[in-house]
Amino acid sequence: MSDFQATIAWAEAADAADPLRAFRDEFLIPPHEGRDCAYFCGNSLGLQPRAVRAALAAELDDWAQLGVEGHFKGRLPWMDYHEFVRDHLAEVVGAQPSEVVAMNTLGVNLHLMMVSFYRPTAARPAILMEAGAFPTDRYALESQIRFHGFDPASALIELEADEPNGTLSMAAIERALAEHGSRIALVMLPGVQYRTGQAFDLKAIAALGHKHGCHVGFDLAHAVGNLPLRLHDSGADFAVWCSYKYLNSGPGAVGGAFVHERHARAVLPRFAGWWGHDKTTRFRMGPEFVPTPGADGWQLSNPPILALAPLRVSLEIFHRAGMARLREKSLQLTGYLEWLVRTQLAGVLDVLTPADPAHRGAQLSIRVRGGRERGRALFDHLVEHGVVGDWREPDVIRISPAPLYNRFADCLVFAEAVRAWSQAWSRSDISA
Ligand SMILES: *Cc1c(COP(=O)(O)O)cnc(C)c1O
Repeated sequence: MSDFQATIAWAEAADAADPLRAFRDEFLIPPHEGRDCAYFCGNSLGLQPRAVRAALAAELDDWAQLGVEGHFKGRLPWMDYHEFVRDHLAEVVGAQPSEVVAMNTLGVNLHLMMVSFYRPTAARPAILMEAGAFPTDRYALESQIRFHGFDPASALIELEADEPNGTLSMAAIERALAEHGSRIALVMLPGVQYRTGQAFDLKAIAALGHKHGCHVGFDLAHAVGNLPLRLHDSGADFAVWCSYKYLNSGPGAVGGAFVHERHARAVLPRFAGWWGHDKTTRFRMGPEFVPTPGADGWQLSNPPILALAPLRVSLEIFHRAGMARLREKSLQLTGYLEWLVRTQLAGVLDVLTPADPAHRGAQLSIRVRGGRERGRALFDHLVEHGVVGDWREPDVIRISPAPLYNRFADCLVFAEAVRAWSQAWSRSDISA
């Protein structure tokens, strides 16, 4: 869209014309000095859907009224509760319902998936990952390598960013696989990189990894609920994610996992638990583990109902909004933010996230010119003025407009706050 304008009249007209505008009212927006703050931190903790409180209260009531009978007689029987989120979760990630399961948290699911899909041998012991990954991912991969008796010094291959703003090209991934492919057991990459906001081509990476005989898994922490995904078609072997970021399911929410259909009935090593046992015979309580076909077969425990309730509410919102429509708005919203930075704030901020919208989601990672002290001063100014992003050392602010609840006017509030601060800063520079 080329008709962006840096005026409140334009932003308010764009908000009024937004077909998804009503969804904002379904969320609780944290207040700042009597008005809504400009919340851009959905990449870290998404906002609370209003309906969550009633959904939690309903489960507490069923527990109070029914006790153990809530497993069968609850309004949403706890026995099958994880199945009530399945279809909408499959929709969000573009999978078949049997390929997804809501369970555990991201780090736990990453380990469980690696038990099945990282099967190193002396000839093929390695994992290919990105340098600068989120720490838990590196810790998990490194500890799995050690667990299998291999040495991370040679078995953990970390791909360095090869593009100017710390992003990674497909060519670099191709080169790494051409060079090391025959030694690599698992390729493990993000859907969207958490620091740079770069989005990866899952299908191309999965095809490339498979061509070299590797398993391919993705960490979708910053991709799920942000980009429309087609996990089934991507051909990835597995994926994991958390639900408290763009999925708005609350702090520490239940995470998710995807296991491609071709592994649904495969005899894979796994760490088993009773909830992964074939549902039809689970309560015979037999000694032999017979996995439920599909992703459900990786469950360990009966699920935390109070933690699944917010996820169920949130996914229902995603179902009504639709990932395609959300992405359409997201392209406009993040496009507007980028346009404001580029045309109104040149000389103050630089966008590190790829300029091509096909290679990013909602988030822009923005470097503040002039070093850490100046960056930190701007970040503090934003916080004081009710503009909530997050800070990444040494000089980067991440701003993520979420199409479910952010407005074009919020983006303008951000730009105005930066402009006011930078003018005041240069005045104080001159007088100092
Ligand atoms: C947010 C995030 C995590 C967090 O893991 P938890 O197990 O949910 O605490 C891990 N990896 C990435 C890439 C993330 O963005």
